[in-house]
Amino acid sequence: ALQLNSIGKRFGDVDVLTDIQLTVMPGEIICLVGRSGCGKSTLLRIIAGVETPDAGAVMMNGREIAGPTTFMEPEKRRIGFVFQDYALFPHLTVEQNVLFGLKGLPRAEAKARVADMIQHVRLAELATRYPHTLSGGEQQRVALARALAPKPDILLMDEPFSNLDRGLRDSVREETLHLLRGLKTTAIMVTHDPEEALSAGDRVVLMQNGRVVQSGTGYDVHDNPVSRYAADFFCAFN
Ligand code: ATP
Ligand code: MG
Repeated sequence: ALQLNSIGKRFGDVDVLTDIQLTVMPGEIICLVGRSGCGKSTLLRIIAGVETPDAGAVMMNGREIAGPTTFMEPEKRRIGFVFQDYALFPHLTVEQNVLFGLKGLPRAEAKARVADMIQHVRLAELATRYPHTLSGGEQQRVALARALAPKPDILLMDEPFSNLDRGLRDSVREETLHLLRGLKTTAIMVTHDPEEALSAGDRVVLMQNGRVVQSGTGYDVHDNPVSRYAADFFCAFN
C-alpha cells in the first residue's frame, strides 16, 4: 500500500500541505479533487519524488521512501507520472518519448510495448511526429502512453483527460481505467470534472486549503458532503 503519514509542505511562509493522511490500497484508483491551488499537484509531486515533504513520511509497502530526512530517487519508485503540463521531451518523437522509460527492456520487447501503448492512446498515425507539431490533447495522450509504458506500480495523473474533447475523453478514460484495472495498477488521478471524480475511481478524496477534508466512494461523498465546500464541489451536477 501507499501511505501518507502527516505530510506537510511549506513554500516560503505559506503552508501548502498540512497533516495529509491517506492510505491507498494496492490496485485502488483514487480521484483527487479540490479547488485550484489547494495543493493537489504538490501532493502528487511529493509522492513521485520531484518535491520533498517538510514533515511526515511517504511509505510504500511499509518502507519510508520520502520524509524530511529520507529520499528514494524517483527512478527507483516504480511510479509513473502524467504531469499537468505533459512535460514531453521536445527533441524526441512520439515513439521516442514513449520508449524513454524502457531502457532496461530488450529492444524487441520495448518496441512492441511502445506500439501497444501508442495504439492504446490512438496515436499510431503520429508516431514519428515531434511534440510541438501536436495539439494539446495529442500531447496529453503521449504523456499518458509514456507513463504507462514501463507498467508502473503506481500511476499519478494530473488532469490526464482535461484537454480531450468529450467523445475522445470518455473513450481514452475508459480504456485507460480498463488497462489499469487489468494490470492492477494503483492510481491517483487529479480531476476538475465532478462527474469524472464521482464515477471513474473507487474513491474520491477532497482537498481544501492543503488538507484532506473528505474521502469516500462517489455515492458517499455525493449524498453526504461534509461541508458547504464539499456540497458545492460534488453537487455541481446532479
Ligand atoms: P490547480 O488545480 O490549479 O492545478 P493545485 O491544487 O494543483 O491547483 P498546487 O499546484 O499544488 O495546486 O499549488 C498549491 C499552492 O502552492 C499554490 O498556492 C501554489 O501557488 C503554491 N506553489 C506550488 N508550487 C510552488 C513553488 N515551487 N513555490 C512556491 N509556491 C508554490
Ligand atoms: Mg495542479
